[in-house]
Amino acid sequence: MLPLHSHPSGRHFLQIPGPTNVPDRVLRAIDNPTIDHRGPEFGELGKAVLAGMKKVFQTESDVIIYPASGTGSWEAALVNTMSPGDKVLMAETGHFATLWKKVAERLKLRVEFQEGDWRHGADAEQIGKRLAADSGHEIKAVCVVHNETATGVVSDVAAVRKAIDDANHPALLMVDTISSLASIDYRHDEWGVDVTVAGSQKGLMLPAGLSFNAISAKALKASETAALLRSYWDWKEMLAINPSGYFPYTPATNLLYGLYEALQMLFAEGLENVFARHKRHGEATRRAVQAWGLEILCRKPEEYSPALTAVMMPAGHSADAFRKTVLTHFNMSLGQGLSKVSDKIFRIGHLGDFNDLTLCGTLSGVEMGLSKAGVPHKPGGVQAALDYLSQTSKPYPA
Ligand code: PLP
Repeated sequence: MLPLHSHPSGRHFLQIPGPTNVPDRVLRAIDNPTIDHRGPEFGELGKAVLAGMKKVFQTESDVIIYPASGTGSWEAALVNTMSPGDKVLMAETGHFATLWKKVAERLKLRVEFQEGDWRHGADAEQIGKRLAADSGHEIKAVCVVHNETATGVVSDVAAVRKAIDDANHPALLMVDTISSLASIDYRHDEWGVDVTVAGSQKGLMLPAGLSFNAISAKALKASETAALLRSYWDWKEMLAINPSGYFPYTPATNLLYGLYEALQMLFAEGLENVFARHKRHGEATRRAVQAWGLEILCRKPEEYSPALTAVMMPAGHSADAFRKTVLTHFNMSLGQGLSKVSDKIFRIGHLGDFNDLTLCGTLSGVEMGLSKAGVPHKPGGVQAALDYLSQTSKPYPA
């Protein structure tokens, strides 16, 4: 007989900022029998998800889907457009910007890292100044993380684009939207982004395992002369076969079923409504945090993330001990502080398949956890969120 493991009743609350909760509809879709990825049925699926992803990126240009986690699409963005020794300008917004920098360095790119304090977004003005000083156009790309998952800070991509244009500089603009796509308004074409990087496990409500590049005509042109070695990540192979809905190597067929279903859900809700929902839940969360008397890591209200909120622990208290209390008493996972802010912050994910009552449960778990773990705070955070949610709720369907 198999050993019996104790299992807490009810659903686990997975409130880390990704991977997010996968909706039942998407799980059921993934559960379908695998089909021949070279057969006629697959081509229709491939065409549908590629077209759907263009809508999500708000682009008319090409989109690539890799069977890979987000890190793969970081690498793909660089190896398809850069040559060994090229200089790239990256903004230090937090842990994930720092990891992308490491990828670039391993690829033998020369990285100029604009220092940040992990409490602000990319500084468009500083980027503009640096590019204006680069009269020889040595800098080949500017790389920015749209929503820094480690800090809950959103960078203003349109402002970075404007800074590049104002400096009259030809650098490519590359943006990581791994934790913003399909949660926070993002416009690949309108903002003049050359390569957008994304992943499946956050706003797209899928498990990890798919990642994306959206590509501008300028990036595609750059790929013709880019000399970094590439094979698996080569856009050319993909673009040659994708128009017929097929892939040059075995695609993650069952994840693509899930993607098809997730896209149906996002389009039925309407992307505008999806973005508004995330904004509203971000605001409700911050009202709770402020009522508790705790500090939000993000310094500037205009940079608050609608996808997650990073909360600073009062001095002398361990964020990880608090998270452990929440997990063991209330069966909820909260995001940990990463590298520089390890044990100093915890992160509340409020993105993906999420509604008012999911947020109420999440914030209740946090408030009870703060009391249980002896973290100094004021009562009333959940009530502040409830008041805001009930004042701003709308009947469904709208
Ligand atoms: N970029 C951001 C903003 C992320 O949040 C993550 C993962 O959480 C990554 C990149 C890396 O993606 P992955 O872990 O899927 O390789």
